[in-house]
Amino acid sequence: MLPEVLAHEPPAAQRATMSAMRATSWTAPSRARLARIRARLREIYGVPAAVPHRRPLDELILTVLSQSTNDRNRDVAFLALRQRFAGWEEVRDAPLADVELAIRPGGISKVKSQRIQQILSAIGDPLSLDWIETAPPAQRRDALCALPGVGRKTAACVLLFSYGLREVPVDTHVSRVATRLGLLRPGAPFEELHDQMLALTPPGAELELHVNLLRHGRRTCHSRSPECDTCGLRRMCPRIGVR
Ligand code: SF4
Repeated sequence: MLPEVLAHEPPAAQRATMSAMRATSWTAPSRARLARIRARLREIYGVPAAVPHRRPLDELILTVLSQSTNDRNRDVAFLALRQRFAGWEEVRDAPLADVELAIRPGGISKVKSQRIQQILSAIGDPLSLDWIETAPPAQRRDALCALPGVGRKTAACVLLFSYGLREVPVDTHVSRVATRLGLLRPGAPFEELHDQMLALTPPGAELELHVNLLRHGRRTCHSRSPECDTCGLRRMCPRIGVR
């Protein structure tokens, strides 16, 4: 219910004020609360499994290709890139137009082709990220985030999916669902969201929480119209019905 002082404000002002109030009143969730949410997500979506594939450079390029498109178009673009060029050195040294043509099915190919070549050039020789598996946590994350256009989410994807290392990618779905469920501070910048998510995630639950929160965001807790009436987490959600 709205506080009485907001009752006569325009809807946009009401939402902004309520959002600010939630941000200042937020407290970190208890372990027991996270465990309950995790268990409920498991009941709905199961326990995801993904064997680390040990190809960090592939994962990095795949993550670049995933921007602003769906998984299918991302995969089509990635496959086209691998079929058109013999290896990442060839992609790095090819005319930009050839790379752009190959990844066109993935959308915004002009931007992505430039970014891919910038990243490959910045890595240098040898053109490999295999060393990150055994590097100290801060060093491997910093090295990835120093690459052009690479932020915490992309770095976390590379480390988690390539080697099963302790990171939780916080994309737009994960951040929205986790914030609505009270796991993350409303309005927190992405850097803080990643730190918070990692701090509250028990070791070994990184992949599970990332995948199941993402699934819930895609299937039920949509950005504009969350399906709260049928949501399996409605009994434990402080944001029920609130966008
Ligand atoms: S009750 Fe609504 S806001 Fe809460 S998690 Fe479910 S869909 Fe999202």
